[in-house]
Amino acid sequence: MSSSERSDRHSPDISNNNALLREILDNCEEAVAVSDHNGNLHYYNKAFDSLVSPSSPSPPLNDLLKALSLDALGVWRMLEKQVRMGYAPTYRIALNGGQVISVNAKLFSPKDDRGLILSIWNDATRDEQVRLNYNQATAMLELTQKVAGVGCWQADLEKGKMIWSEELYNITGLPREKSLSIKKYLTRFTPRSRAALIRNLKKAIRYSTPFEVDLEFYARDGSTKWGRANCRIENRNGSCTSLYGTFQDITDMKQREQAILRSHELLTTILNSIDADIYVCDFETHEVLFSNKLVEEEVRPTSNNMKCWEYIYGLDHKCYSCPEMELLDSEGNPSGLFIREFTNPKTGRTYLCHDRAVDWISGRKAHLQVALDISDRKKLEEEITMAMAQSEAANRSKGEFLANMSHEIRTPLNGIFGMLELARTTELNEEQEDYINTALESGRSLLTVINDILDFSKMEAGKLDIVEYDFNLEQCIKSVLKSFSVQVSDKKLNLEVEIAKGTPVCLMGDESRIRQILFNLVGNAVKFTLEGKVKVEVHHEETKLSPEKYRFVFTVSDTGIGIAENKQDIIFKAFTQADGSYTRKYSGTGLGLAIVRRLTALLGGDVSVESEEGKGSSFTFSVVCGLQSDHFSCAFREEDDQYEKNSLPALSILLVEDERINRFSATRILEKLGHSITPAENGYEALKILEGATFDCILMDIQMPVMDGIETTNEIRNSKKYAASRKTPIIAMTAHTMRGDKEKFLESGMDAYIPKPVEFKSLTEAIARVVKE
Ligand code: ADP
Repeated sequence: MSSSERSDRHSPDISNNNALLREILDNCEEAVAVSDHNGNLHYYNKAFDSLVSPSSPSPPLNDLLKALSLDALGVWRMLEKQVRMGYAPTYRIALNGGQVISVNAKLFSPKDDRGLILSIWNDATRDEQVRLNYNQATAMLELTQKVAGVGCWQADLEKGKMIWSEELYNITGLPREKSLSIKKYLTRFTPRSRAALIRNLKKAIRYSTPFEVDLEFYARDGSTKWGRANCRIENRNGSCTSLYGTFQDITDMKQREQAILRSHELLTTILNSIDADIYVCDFETHEVLFSNKLVEEEVRPTSNNMKCWEYIYGLDHKCYSCPEMELLDSEGNPSGLFIREFTNPKTGRTYLCHDRAVDWISGRKAHLQVALDISDRKKLEEEITMAMAQSEAANRSKGEFLANMSHEIRTPLNGIFGMLELARTTELNEEQEDYINTALESGRSLLTVINDILDFSKMEAGKLDIVEYDFNLEQCIKSVLKSFSVQVSDKKLNLEVEIAKGTPVCLMGDESRIRQILFNLVGNAVKFTLEGKVKVEVHHEETKLSPEKYRFVFTVSDTGIGIAENKQDIIFKAFTQADGSYTRKYSGTGLGLAIVRRLTALLGGDVSVESEEGKGSSFTFSVVCGLQSDHFSCAFREEDDQYEKNSLPALSILLVEDERINRFSATRILEKLGHSITPAENGYEALKILEGATFDCILMDIQMPVMDGIETTNEIRNSKKYAASRKTPIIAMTAHTMRGDKEKFLESGMDAYIPKPVEFKSLTEAIARVVKE
């Protein structure tokens, strides 16, 4: 239908029924006005009235036009513009009352000669507000998406169209294109994620199931990132018509998550690798919050929110031994570590438990326990303690055995020596004297061997102690050399001593052990040297060892047979000799150097050898000694010579000795020296004698039946009954020669000590010394 036809159809009604027309126009929502070219308003309907001035019933259109800055010409121009642009622009106008409104005006110029203008006005204020709100909401949404890194999308499955939010382009880096498709969307994902997304999408479409999945996608720069895709479904008649959802960039979150996961894995690995049961339970509820692998393996796989006592020990009540009260202070704060040993009543295994209170996640207080299974260690400890007790008992009995052996060997030897010495005092022909001297020499060799064996056994049993006392180094060396004077002069050897300048000689240390080392080394040097010399040198190292101790280095060298290089190591082993053949030229047990090595170690030093076969050997050893306060001047006693020279006056001597032969030989020898001897078989007998007599000196055996030497000495020294003999010198004469014996006897009140077998020379010297003192 053409526009002229339309106007033809309506025109008769309007012209003929003005009232009806007005009625229609007044009920029209749109404001309608009719004006002339001069701006005079000829007609306006109710809607126009309320649009332009809701308060005034008859506002002039001119006001409106004025407000739009339009005159009649302007209206025509506006009309033209509308025709040209094909739509009615919106005008914001401020009315006289100050109110701002937005209006759309459609102007028509009816084609009649009256030149009237028909205008239809629309209040666009609300539309504009809606548009404004919409724009604001869109901007807000975009901003929110940008800040949150969340894009959204919608896919219309029926139309095969997809729309993306601005942010989704930003996240995926895809260029904005008109023809967006799910296919393109999929190209942004790594193959693995793409497959996962397709799988989820298919499921969503087929079963209308929404999904959420984390996917790896390519960013604009080609790097891979992580996104979380969320998808919802729209259904119509049971089939999926469209999908919509969000896609969030979760790369940072994922990285943080992975970092947390890594550190969690690390901690879990560590906690699970620790060979101890570790678990945590809530302080209030006692519910188990964590347990490591070992607990789970030993107890059960998972705690299932069980109470600790139920989980760990299978109890239906709190453990009586739980230390939880100890773990918090009076203010309820963790008070530190509580360590205890605990035996699990169920398994019988013993644990070393470390309990402490800790601040747990979300403000909870928790009880942390680390329990180390020490059952095996405990068992081992018990075994070790038992073994140690056994070995101590064995050592004790070995020590006792050694003491007895020493005593039992020395007692008959003493008899042999005594009788030989006695025989020497009789009239002898040359041959007899030679036999006796040879027997005595063999006896002495036997004694050396016995001493070595006993010493070595003592060392093996760990029974050899070090006793430190003041001594003179020079005297110590010289007295050792003196004992070899006979052999040295027989062999025509030179014996030299060189104490380096500035070496302190007044020392504190175990002189008797140093003497023993020197005795062995000088003895060997003399034994293995046929001509030339034996030399002893000593110096000290300047560096002070703590406290006030120095290292003294001794060298014993000779011009003897020397030792083959391949034998230089083994000679320090017990019972080993360089010449191991049956046709050995030199006697010996092979124990000397083994003893030397152990003794030097005991004295804080060591020993080594340098030697060349046929040219000689040089043994160097070191020991650690302290210094006396004045370390250059101290007594140098020419003891032996001094007393040897003094002839003793005739003395009355009480000889207390249970062994018949020893008693007989001692009595006879001492009598031959002019002394008068009263023999007693034991301490009791001696005390009886002392009740009625006094003596110049008492020779006291130690081990005797009825009453031993120590008890007897104690009585003499302390009982009023023997007050007359309280000061009489007592010499211990004993086969008890173990380390410490001498000191023990002197402490019990004796004045001197002579070991058995008794050398009568030393006995007379000792008697002379004590009597003089
Ligand atoms: P022994 O009682 O046999 O002397 P040692 O342990 O004192 O035992 O010595 C072991 C061996 O070392 C000796 O048998 C000897 O072969 C060798 N030896 C030790 N000192 C010397 C030395 N000064 N010269 C040559 N050989 C020596």
